[in-house]
Amino acid sequence: MTKVTNLLTDSHQRKHNYLRISLSEKCNLRCTYCMPHDGIALSPRAHLMTADEIEAIATIFVKNGVDKIRLTGGEPLVRKDFSLILEKLAKLHVKLSITTNALLTHRFIDDFKRFGLQDINVSLDSLDAEKFKFITRRDQFKLAYDNINQLIAEGFNVKINAVLMKGFNEDEITDFIKLTKDQNINVRFIEFMPFDGNEWNKNKLVSQAEILNRVTDYFGVEALKPLLNETNFTARNFRIEGFKGSFGIISSVTNPFCDSCNRVRLTADGKLKNCLFSNEETNLLTGYRSGANLEDLIDAALNKKKAVRAGMTDFDQLTNPDLHNNNRSMIAIGG
Ligand code: SAM
Ligand code: SF4
Repeated sequence: MTKVTNLLTDSHQRKHNYLRISLSEKCNLRCTYCMPHDGIALSPRAHLMTADEIEAIATIFVKNGVDKIRLTGGEPLVRKDFSLILEKLAKLHVKLSITTNALLTHRFIDDFKRFGLQDINVSLDSLDAEKFKFITRRDQFKLAYDNINQLIAEGFNVKINAVLMKGFNEDEITDFIKLTKDQNINVRFIEFMPFDGNEWNKNKLVSQAEILNRVTDYFGVEALKPLLNETNFTARNFRIEGFKGSFGIISSVTNPFCDSCNRVRLTADGKLKNCLFSNEETNLLTGYRSGANLEDLIDAALNKKKAVRAGMTDFDQLTNPDLHNNNRSMIAIGG
């Protein structure tokens, strides 16, 4: 069905073929960097996209060139009709993927296989059960860890996402990389990004440069092999010589990759975000329900997309709370 039109090309000539759909604002974890301490005001149920609406809106994107859809949240697997949504999206014949905290993946292995979902990004910020409990505010390390190993054993293409925070888990960087010695997985270190209510502070940031210094101090400079950047990359990838898997760094704060951005986001309440960092939203769900022409709305939203991080071009702008606190919390965006 995929057809390339100009609708999803922005004014900086970036083609957007990758749609990330948040299925839920709810989560069974409470990661401190994502979910504000007091939670968020949830949208009324009637304001959330139904399975049919997700399918209908996604179909418009696919007709205009989207060939990759990632399901995210909140936690996408807490959604009761997750399997139905997956079944509907599988009919669009795009590459399907998911980002999940892995607490519920054991229930969906068969559905993932049946509907061709092969790429699974899992979040795991610590290999230590106590630290996991501290950062997620839930005592669920064993379940998450066992489920991640099950996904790897079942042959899924697994990437582990770890948000690094100074004084919390930067001492685990090399332990995470050791997981790639005998397993063909990719571990991605994500720079801690500022969003509404997540108590971001620049002293908590572990930068790309610091990560690489730790890696070379431990494994040696010669062992670090940079890999070729993928098209539309978000992570700069490396391999330790002789290791089966690889690791990457998502440096949205200190070294953004906006030039090659091909992503648009749909929130669980049907708002289109042209950039993770943008507080401007276009209400596609209301448009769909009232019979508006969604292609016109999408076109206008794409043309407003800024060249870099919603216009926050430098570090001082991105880290200015007056600017980033106008955005949603990450839990309600869909990272
Ligand atoms: N619940 C799922 C999960 O945790 O994988 C999907 C949603 S979560 C919002 C998606 C990704 O965003 C996760 O990998 C999470 O680590 C990342 N994330 C959330 N808040 C972040 C922040 N402040 N900085 C960097 N990454 C963040
Ligand atoms: Fe939930 Fe994922 Fe946010 Fe953690 S990062 S609170 S698991 S949505």
